[in-house]
Amino acid sequence: MPMSESYKIRLSNILPQIVDTFGTPFHIYDEKGIKETCRRLISVFKEIEGFREYFAVKALPNPSIMKIMQAAGFGFDCSSVPEIELARQIGSNRDDIMFTSNNTSTSQFETALSNGGCILNLDDISLISKLTKIPELICFRYNPGSRRKGNKIIGNPAESKYGVGHDQIIDAYAKSIALGAKRFGIHTMLASNELNYEYMVETTRMLLDIVEMICKTLPVTFEFINIGGGLGIPYTPDAFPFNLDAMALETTELFQKFKNQYGWVPRLYMESGRYITGPHGVLVTSVINHKNIYRKYVGVDASMSALMRPGMYDAYHHIHIHGKDTSSTLEKVDVVGALCENIDKFAVQRDLPPTEEGDILVIHDTGAHGHAMGFNYNGHLRPKELLLKEDLSVELIRRAETMEDYFATLKFDPAVHRF
Ligand SMILES: *Cc1c(COP(=O)(O)O)cnc(C)c1O
Repeated sequence: MPMSESYKIRLSNILPQIVDTFGTPFHIYDEKGIKETCRRLISVFKEIEGFREYFAVKALPNPSIMKIMQAAGFGFDCSSVPEIELARQIGSNRDDIMFTSNNTSTSQFETALSNGGCILNLDDISLISKLTKIPELICFRYNPGSRRKGNKIIGNPAESKYGVGHDQIIDAYAKSIALGAKRFGIHTMLASNELNYEYMVETTRMLLDIVEMICKTLPVTFEFINIGGGLGIPYTPDAFPFNLDAMALETTELFQKFKNQYGWVPRLYMESGRYITGPHGVLVTSVINHKNIYRKYVGVDASMSALMRPGMYDAYHHIHIHGKDTSSTLEKVDVVGALCENIDKFAVQRDLPPTEEGDILVIHDTGAHGHAMGFNYNGHLRPKELLLKEDLSVELIRRAETMEDYFATLKFDPAVHRF
């Protein structure tokens, strides 16, 4: 179940006018769908006191979208200084920003902790001594190593560069206490695009176990556990959607059990990106060429600069052709962009209805890690982003890149140094 039927209908009704007005290519996001997903997430976890989602900004770093999440009560998970700045610019405060970075420089920490600060989620025990002052609230990212299997996309925890190892985790909190930290959280992020809800329940169980272990050794309680993101979405038409209800039910049970046993319980934080916006965005692109050699090619006016996932991960993105959705004749084609890279293909040997120049292709599920991952290789510029609002008006929420943008970093005072 890629792109929802509801979004497809609302978009299709006005798509030709949108294309006429704005020109292709563009990503367009569904305000209604995003709001519904936000509400659903809050509703299924409502029995866990203090539940909060910190939207992973990297999935869709657009202030207009982030404001929708902010209105829903979400915070933001940021992994770089510019992402923190994005969250601050829309008015996020310290408790609304989780800084989950990796291999972080001292200057990044300084910026993160100034101008109002944020919740620090430290990736290693060695980083404690790099802080000029330990914040009152501190969180560590935990890496269970061989205790857990990762999943296909993210790899095995034992081979991943993230987080504090199991044998150092108690020490990390002990050191922080010695330096004056008073409030604590613990975080992990082990899966990506995981469709099996049980994996996420296991992650909660694992973190609650670690909290238990730490609290038996050190005189602390925990304010929150953060189980990371990684909830999957069904990209292919035959994939089953993630069972959020079952995850919420079993997670709530774990929290109740903990509370019954200890008389207190941490809050639950999450930092999903893909699950919140992924299905609510599409890339709209026009057919500009056909080519028929050893294979049939459909050339479109977007390229990898707008969507890397197919080329980078061999990821499937469902495609429909506007107005030809019910066509019974199909042909096998590769849908390609203009980059000088043979991986610049949105679909490989896909059965699609025959197209003509000017036909509009809708590439599904580009609402997360889509535009955000785009790049400028080969001089290709990133496209604009639009928002289909609830009242069916369409708002430009990011303009397309221009040649001036491309040349901007070449404009500087000539600086030659002789040594
Ligand atoms: C990428 C990332 C996320 C979001 O992942 P999704 O698969 O989009 O849910 C959350 N937390 C961290 C630390 C990440 O690196």
